[in-house]
Order: sequence, then structure tokens, then C-alpha cells
Amino acid sequence: MYPLTAQKPSVATLFLSAPEMVRLIQRKGLQQCLGGIADALRADFLRWPEFDKSARVANHSADGVIELMPISDHALYSFKYVNGHPKNTRAGLSTVMAFGVLADVQTGTPLLLSELTLTTALRTAATSALAARALARPDSRVMALIGNGAQSEFQALAFQHLLGIEEVRLFDVDPAATAKLMHNLQGTGLKLVPCASTAAAVRGADIVTTVTADKTNATILSGDMIEPGMHINGVGGDCPGKTELHRDVLTRGRVFVEYAPQSRVEGDIQQMPADFPVTELWQVLAGQQPGRLSADEVTVFDSVGFALEDYSALRFMHDAARELHMGEMIALIPQLDDPKNLFGALRTAVSPLRRAA
Ligand code: NAD
Repeated sequence: MYPLTAQKPSVATLFLSAPEMVRLIQRKGLQQCLGGIADALRADFLRWPEFDKSARVANHSADGVIELMPISDHALYSFKYVNGHPKNTRAGLSTVMAFGVLADVQTGTPLLLSELTLTTALRTAATSALAARALARPDSRVMALIGNGAQSEFQALAFQHLLGIEEVRLFDVDPAATAKLMHNLQGTGLKLVPCASTAAAVRGADIVTTVTADKTNATILSGDMIEPGMHINGVGGDCPGKTELHRDVLTRGRVFVEYAPQSRVEGDIQQMPADFPVTELWQVLAGQQPGRLSADEVTVFDSVGFALEDYSALRFMHDAARELHMGEMIALIPQLDDPKNLFGALRTAVSPLRRAA
């Protein structure tokens, strides 16, 4: 715990570790977290022009990518560090691991240092559900969920709680992943139907969520699988050379993205010409562009994950932690009596023992 001084402004930072985030989500309730993050996302998407936005900075390597995702408005700045390494699970590591910071724009003081692996799963699912509320048929009750890894349960629950999905049809090339999902979601009230193939899972579904991980231009969904009125929630195609939807899927209906300059490089639309028409989600939420036009229309949300979603999620978690008195204040930044005397911190920190040696 950092000793807070009465006279000087504190530079102590609230720290939310992964175990503390688990406790926070359990105390607040998963459903409340999904709903609260969706509300925060919606409020922030409606303020879109107020944000200083940029496409994330990606460092690519043979098996993965490490990305930095900054964004700010007049009051708060946030960034996320996140990786994507589809082969990691074979070595017992997560495909996606993340942490991030929320800072005060006026002074630059870091307010929150937080885990973002769990929070990314929550915010991605909440974003998917927010988009589907505007784009899917309101009577949607059946979702196909292709890819049953780390993100999948969060997607299923967000669609149950925020959209009213009742049945989820499952497929993964790894049957153990599907079995894990079915075990985890026992007792949630969702009807869970394991399927023998993607095509079998997708047939007759109202919404299709693809959330697979493979560093290749995969064809998880082909044009012949798409039925009139379907909403496609494409989550796993999020990096150059890593896509899930055949281009025929993208020409079947209107395509919606988070932030076009980033999505054109990273999304499934990387396969399409630079002027391929897309609508940004915020425009639909703000009423500037129409969402779904008819019951028969095919809609595609080509999600890659945008910095604003982490900003909203960090804001929500920061408020929740303060409300529940959770997390720990840490001294990430030196607390100085005289801010010009940084060197003085070293002089006081040297122990008498070391000085003697
Ligand atoms: P994960 O590795 O835990 O799970 C991925 C699953 O996909 C695995 O179970 C794997 O067996 C399965 N899979 C791979 N190829 C498949 C195929 N051809 N058909 C069916 N299943 C297949 O990964 P995760 O953390 O669940 O992430 C899933 C994907 O979502 C990743 O590609 C990740 O980069 C992406 N993601 C996107 C966002 C976003 O905001 N859009 C956010 C987080 C993660």
C-alpha cells in the first residue's frame, strides 16, 4: 500500500491483478459486467468524434502478433498491450493475453493498471452483442458458435443476456474445446447443441459467431452457408493474413466495422479492394446510418477489436473497483516531495547497509 500524503497530489495507481479481477467479476456478477460494459461501450461509441483515434501498432512475428492500442478523450487516456499467438494453447499458454492502463489526460498520471485478458473477453463479447442488437433480426434465438476456445463462453453468455439467444449450436475442430464449453455453461439455461461440422452448426441459425484462432486465411464460412436474414459476427479474423470469412460472405450483405482504417488492414475485409463499402458501428448506434434494413438482409460485423472498447471496459472496471473497494494502490511512479528532485529519491532509497559497503 502506498503511503498517501495529505499535502501533495498522490501519484499512486490502482492495480487490478488477474486474481483480483476474477473476484471483482464474481462479486459484481458476470451478467452485470457484460451489461455494464455494453452500456459503457454504447455511451462512448455515441461520443465517437470526441476521441483521438488511431489504428493499433502491431509487431508481427512468425507465430503471432503483439499490439499496442492507444486512445484518449479530453479526460482519460488508455492503452492496451495484447498479443495473438494461435499456437500458444499447444504450449499451455493463452492465445490472447493482455494488460492496460487508464490515465488522467490533464496530468498524465496513471490511474489504473489492470489485467485485460479476462476484461478483453468481456468487452469483445459485449461489443459483439451491442453490434448484433443493431444488426441482427430482433427475433433471433439460435446462434452458431464456431471456435469454442477462451472467448467462446463469454460470447454465448453476452448473446443470451443482451439479445435473448436461447440455443447455441457448437463446433470446434478440437472436440475437447466444445466439451469444455458445455461443461462451463451447464445450468445457464442455454440449450447447447454440439455439431459435427461448421456447416451443420450454421444451418438454420439466426446469428453465426466465428471466433476461431489460426494464423492463416481460413475459410470458416463460405458463401453457400449463408442464409437470408443471418447476422454474421466475425471475431477471429483480426490480423493481416488471418481471416475467417470467404469473400463471397462479405459480398452477400452490408458489412459493419469498428474503425475502418484499422479494419481494412486487419479485418476479413483485408481481402477486398480499398474502397469496399463499409459502415462504422458508431454511425449506426448514433442513428447516422441504418442498421438492418429488412428481415431477409444479411449483415456482417467484421470485428477486430478497437482501442475504444478497452477504454470503455477499463473505465467500467475502474468504477467497479472503487465502488467495491477492490484492488491495491501501488507506487508505479515515484512520490516526490520536490518533483524536480528525482535524484533525491535515489539518495533516500539507498539503505545504510549498502552505503556502508
Ligand atoms: P483460443 O485459441 O482459446 O480458441 C480458438 C479455438 O478455435 C480453438 O479451440 C481452436 O481449436 C478453434 N479453431 C481453430 N481453427 C478452427 C476451425 N477451422 N474450425 C473450428 N474451430 C477452429 O482463442 P480465443 O482466445 O478464443 O480467440 C479466438 C479468436 O478471437 C482469436 O483469433 C483471437 O485473435 C480473436 N479475438 C478477437 C477479438 C476481437 O475483438 N475481434 C478479441 C479477442 C480475441
